[in-house]
Amino acid sequence: MAAQSQAVVPLVDLVAQYRTIQPEIDQAVAGVIGRAAFVGGAENAEFETKFAAFCEARHAVGVGNGTDALFLALKALGIGAGQEVIVPANTFIATSEAVTAAGAKPVFVDVDEGTATISVAAFQAAITPRTAAVIPVHLYGRSADMAPIVAAAKAHGIAVVEDAAQAHGARYQGKRVGTLGDVACFSFYPGKNLGAYGDGGAVVTNDEALAKRVRMLRDHGRKSKYLHETEGHNSRLDNLQAAVLLTKLPHLQGWNEKRVALADLYRKLLEKESTLHLMAPAKAGEHVYHLFVVRTRPEHREAIQKSLSEAGISTGIHYPVPLHLQPAYSQAGYKKGVFPVTERLANEVLSLPMYAELPDATAERIAHALASSAARS
Ligand SMILES: *Cc1c(COP(=O)(O)O)cnc(C)c1O
Repeated sequence: MAAQSQAVVPLVDLVAQYRTIQPEIDQAVAGVIGRAAFVGGAENAEFETKFAAFCEARHAVGVGNGTDALFLALKALGIGAGQEVIVPANTFIATSEAVTAAGAKPVFVDVDEGTATISVAAFQAAITPRTAAVIPVHLYGRSADMAPIVAAAKAHGIAVVEDAAQAHGARYQGKRVGTLGDVACFSFYPGKNLGAYGDGGAVVTNDEALAKRVRMLRDHGRKSKYLHETEGHNSRLDNLQAAVLLTKLPHLQGWNEKRVALADLYRKLLEKESTLHLMAPAKAGEHVYHLFVVRTRPEHREAIQKSLSEAGISTGIHYPVPLHLQPAYSQAGYKKGVFPVTERLANEVLSLPMYAELPDATAERIAHALASSAARS
């Protein structure tokens, strides 16, 4: 049958993307190897300048990965033992791991039903005298509702650390994510909207002193080659990765626009399905659709996922187990039911294939298979 001979549609297709830019990438990588410029190097400095400009921010500091970006940002802010950092329960564990790594305590809160990003009311209710920071996560490629978060944080003297690992290029009230709080953290994990060919990350800020501290902390606390101001870490952005990122950066805006067009197409094809529920639409130009997430009826999700898989369509669940219910946090004593929105989402969300090279005809096939499977379930 024709359907069975069709190639599997992956969630993200990094090989398809490579094919569109292969000569540029190969040349950039060969250049780094030819000059043996593996750590530091011209590509690193140029990428930092250009990524800061892309974010419409003053400074970007390349680091080893997105988790380290969060950790180093918290450390540079002086956050540590005895302090609390508020984190949404609906995110990848890196967000809270960084808090623990810095010596502080992650305090989980629920998210907003329409956007799956941190609930402003829940954040405000969780503030204590020990709260040092909040980490709004721009989940799935859409900014958290930053204006009330920043206002409440200012009123309480709390730092705002954006987790922008899924949202390169997203905007909020016209401003790029990365400039909305005190400091922002990006991941260049291969599958992100801007992905390296390995691990990478960046800390972005308008605060020069903070950027300087991150720069020192990522490189053994160095001021100069053998003068160490403090003990730091080894978490620099690999220069081969910087070369890859520098090559990809001019394409990012176009890739994001394709993701938005694909999301609009999915939305148009699925919005009439009564057994599915779509996330609240975002304003034009704000969402960059790292993921396109639909909500199924919880009792249907497994069967839908299986039937799509049989049709050669990959799907994902972001995320199936909320952080407050992870074994890693069992000591913290959170009970099932405390964050009802996050827990509902965990049972209902389904991520569809999403990448710039995905043909419209394939998206139509995916939407059709999803709609008929949801209706049958
Ligand atoms: C990917 C991701 C991170 C961590 O990035 P790494 O580069 O993999 O360390 C942090 N937060 C969120 C929300 C992410 O999706």
